[in-house]
Amino acid sequence: MTEDKVKEILITRPLLPDFDEFCTELKKIWDSRILTNQGPNHASLEQNLKNHLKVDGLYVYNNATIALLIAIKALDLKGEVIVTPFTFSATVHAIEWCGLTPVFCDIDPETLCIDPSKIENLITPNTCAIMAVHVYGIPCDVKKIQAIADKHNLKIIYDAAHAFGVEIDGVGIGNFGDLSVFSFHATKFFNTAEGGAITYKDKSLKDKLYLLRNFGIKSEEEILLSGINGKMNEFQALLGLKNLEILESEREKRKNIYDLYQSFLGKIEGIKFVISDISSTSYQYFPILIDKVKFGKSRDEVFLKLREHKIFARKYFYPLCSDYECYSELASANPDLLPIAQKSSQEILCLPFHGNLTSDDVRRISNIITS
Ligand SMILES: *Cc1c(COP(=O)(O)O)cnc(C)c1O
Repeated sequence: MTEDKVKEILITRPLLPDFDEFCTELKKIWDSRILTNQGPNHASLEQNLKNHLKVDGLYVYNNATIALLIAIKALDLKGEVIVTPFTFSATVHAIEWCGLTPVFCDIDPETLCIDPSKIENLITPNTCAIMAVHVYGIPCDVKKIQAIADKHNLKIIYDAAHAFGVEIDGVGIGNFGDLSVFSFHATKFFNTAEGGAITYKDKSLKDKLYLLRNFGIKSEEEILLSGINGKMNEFQALLGLKNLEILESEREKRKNIYDLYQSFLGKIEGIKFVISDISSTSYQYFPILIDKVKFGKSRDEVFLKLREHKIFARKYFYPLCSDYECYSELASANPDLLPIAQKSSQEILCLPFHGNLTSDDVRRISNIITS
């Protein structure tokens, strides 16, 4: 194959419904002239998502970052928040934007989620909450985290951006902690181009979560809270409704891709699958850890070699949030205190993972890695 004929393979590809079907529905938006402000598609999406995620309380937002800010504000948090450094920047930025201080906690070497056994040492009189991430859709140890929160009277926000549709023993993942925040960004398994949701159990948070989304407006003459514009528009909501219809077939395709990776890379010395059972996650990512000593090549060498072949894997999550310039001065950001997170972020690589990959693509990616 000549250079320009090599097929480019990206880490993911946003799920999209059939274009003509989408246009039929789009016409209804045109006819109604209801473009936003919690219209009919918005209402219908919220109802569908409640069923899908097996939760009683859910609101949608224009993206997960705004939803994280709203979650923090709704819980009225002040002081320090214990958080994993092994996450996307938005998790920690949201804490900072609300005037709170992030306190970084190391992660579990198996799940790569926050390590509950390291949390208690970080608690001070100023600690108000734990912000944990179900990274790659792998559930955090929700029982242990809840026990710590109960003991020390802390709130829990789960960043469930990767965890759409994940369940623990049949219970939707959005039922754990005080609030969970989902992302529907184009790169996520379920997408509305941009979008997000908060799930809640405590009914006393219902009004706040609603008002904060729409400038705190209760009625024309009553503005109750300093809210923000967190509204999802009708186009996004429609895309979400149509994408929900095709989610199951995408999940099946990704299951096959996972099995193919398993057959090609599952027994290679020095390559560890972070996800040992894809069906217990969200089918969002395919992360591996590359042990340089055992495998003979570093994560960065593999990453660059794939890129030479126009295969674009991603180093999620490198660098660690604790190593960003804006946070590295914090005492808890000291790399010596975060050995597992440091090691994981050096070894992690997310390989291309989406339903449009062919078995030849997976074989080609795997061959490049193993040769
Ligand atoms: C994608 C993502 C977000 C942010 O989501 P947006 O909807 O893009 O704002 C937050 N946290 C994690 C872990 C993410 O992966």
